[in-house]
Amino acid sequence: MINPLNGEETTKKVNSMNYYAYRLMIRQNADNYLLRFRRLFQQHCVDLYVKIETERLTFIRLNQAKLRSEEYIHLRDAPDQIDDIICAKIPDHEADPDLHDVVITNMIHGLCGAINPQSPCMVDGKCSERYPRKFTAETVTGNDGYPLYRRRSPDDNGRTVTTKVKRMDFVVDNSWIVPYSPLISKTFKTHCKVEYCNSVKSTKYICKYVTKGSAIWRFLDCNPQIPTIKFHAIKLVVM
Ligand SMILES: [Zn+2]
Repeated sequence: MINPLNGEETTKKVNSMNYYAYRLMIRQNADNYLLRFRRLFQQHCVDLYVKIETERLTFIRLNQAKLRSEEYIHLRDAPDQIDDIICAKIPDHEADPDLHDVVITNMIHGLCGAINPQSPCMVDGKCSERYPRKFTAETVTGNDGYPLYRRRSPDDNGRTVTTKVKRMDFVVDNSWIVPYSPLISKTFKTHCKVEYCNSVKSTKYICKYVTKGSAIWRFLDCNPQIPTIKFHAIKLVVM
């Protein structure tokens, strides 16, 4: 391999992910034949992903002594930091009116249940997304990998807002708020549900997305602007 900075031969190795990202990259004045193979290309990407993942797993298997050391302290600290990153509460309008508006507009679930049985989330008379959620005084890490986020009840100084459902006033409290990240919500100003993942189950859920054509682009860290992910999703499906 040649070092692009000084043109000299180097013994430095690149990992599979970097190599495949290099091969899949779209370049303005070059024709990349790989990208023309439609579904076969998608299959190829999935194979590449499996290879990348195998490489990672092998690294973990062969470096247990190193991986079991103090690096894990950061993971142990992680649950304490959930509240700094993810919340399920109505924000203070005085302190942050922008966030308050984004959350009120985009992050209230439903509304469903007895007040709106026609809501799409209702299955067999119950909310399939389990709203309204229970009030929780403090964040607790759950057994299924998803924590129970702190949701203060109105009795515990939790804020409320009044909204209209079928022209009737309905008081929304923290039990209806979909978990969000204040930073992400304020950046994108749209519905962005954020969950903290800390179990094999939830990690598996995320990895499942790699078999979807469009996600591979994000996964391999290719240039997300050329072309857009949406364009690729269409290109891969239409034969
Ligand atoms: Zn619902």
